[in-house]
Amino acid sequence: MRFLRRDLDEPDSRILPQMLIETLSMLEEDCLILAPGEVPIFITPGAESLGILKDAKIQSSELLATIRVVRRTHNQQVGKIEIPRGPIGEGKHELTFKVMPLTKDDLVLVLISDESEAQRVHDVRRDFVANISHELKTPIGALSLLSEAVLGSKDDPESVVKFATRMQSEAKRLTDLVQEIINLSRVQDSDPLQLAQEVSVEYIIREAIDQCQISADNRNIAVTYSESTDARVLGDRDQLIMAVHNLIENAINYSPENTKVSITASVDVGIIDISVTDQGIGISESEQDRIFERFYRVDPARSRQTGGTGLGLSIVKHVAAKHGGEVKVWSIENIGSTFSLRLPIYEPSTESSK
Ligand code: ADP
Repeated sequence: MRFLRRDLDEPDSRILPQMLIETLSMLEEDCLILAPGEVPIFITPGAESLGILKDAKIQSSELLATIRVVRRTHNQQVGKIEIPRGPIGEGKHELTFKVMPLTKDDLVLVLISDESEAQRVHDVRRDFVANISHELKTPIGALSLLSEAVLGSKDDPESVVKFATRMQSEAKRLTDLVQEIINLSRVQDSDPLQLAQEVSVEYIIREAIDQCQISADNRNIAVTYSESTDARVLGDRDQLIMAVHNLIENAINYSPENTKVSITASVDVGIIDISVTDQGIGISESEQDRIFERFYRVDPARSRQTGGTGLGLSIVKHVAAKHGGEVKVWSIENIGSTFSLRLPIYEPSTESSK
C-alpha cells in the first residue's frame, strides 16, 4: 500500500512517525489521519478513491459526527456509511469504519473497510446460484430428451438430422447462458473504479457497433452513429463495451426487420449520455422496472427465439452502477424504446485521485 502524504499548512505541520506509517501500511483497511479541524494529513490511495473527501473535507456527516464523539470521549467508535459511487445513479460504496484517538495531541485515525460490500456480494451470489440452477435445467432437459429422440429414430435419417439440429441450437443456448453468467458474475465481483483505465467513449461505441454488425445485417437493420465525442470515462473498457453492446443487440432483437437503430452520445453537465433508440416492439410501463432484474423477460418465448438469456440488461445495470452511473429507459409499445447509459465524464483537472 502506498501512502500519500499531505502536509498541513504551517503552523500545524507535523511529521508522523515512520513506524506508524509502516504499521498502517500493513493493514488491509484503508485509512485516514486527521488533525484538529478534521484536516487530513495522511490518506491511503484506496480511501481517496472511495470519495470520502472532497476538497480535503470529509463528505459524510455521520463520519464527522462519529469523529467528534471520539474527540470528546477519547473512546474508539465504529459505524457504517454509504458513499455514492458517482454523481448520479444508485451505485454506492457501503463502508464500515472505525475511528480512534491516535495521540494526546488530537490526531484521529479512521480505518475504512469494504466488509459490507463482501457481505453483499455473498448474498447476491447465493440468490444467483438458485436462479442459475433453474435456468440451466431447461436446455439440459431439452438436450437429454433430444438425445433420446435421436436414439429412438436411428433408422430414420431425416429425423436424426432434425433432432441433431435442435440439439445444436440447445447446446448453443447453453453456451451463451454460461458465458452471460460468467460475464455477470465478473461484473458483480469487480470494482472497475479501483483499477480504472481512462477510456474513450467514441471507442466504446464504435467497438460495440462492430460487435453487433452481423446480427444487424441478418435482420437488415441499419445501426447509425453519426456523431463523434471526445468524452472519456474512467473504468473497465471491456465491461463498458459489453454494456453498450447489450443495449444495441437488444435494440436489434426486439425490432422488426428493415428498421433503424440509432446511437447518440451527448454531454449533460459532467455526464455522458450514450443512448440507443430503436423502432421496435417497445415495453409496457409496468414491465419497465422489471426488465433489469436477472432472468426477467417480458416474453420468454421471443427472448428464447432470439437467443436471449434474460441477463443482458442486468449486466448493463451493474456496469452502470459500478462506474458511478445509471441506465434509464423510455419506451412506448409498438413505437420503440430508448435506453440511455449515463456515466460520469473523466476530467483529469478536477480528479483528485489521479
Ligand atoms: P434478453 O436476453 O431476454 O434479451 P435482457 O436482460 O437483455 O434479456 O432484457 C430483458 C427483457 O427486456 C427482454 O427479454 C425483453 O423482453 C425486454 N427488452 C430489452 N430490450 C428491449 C428493447 N430494446 N425493446 C423491447 N424490449 C426489450
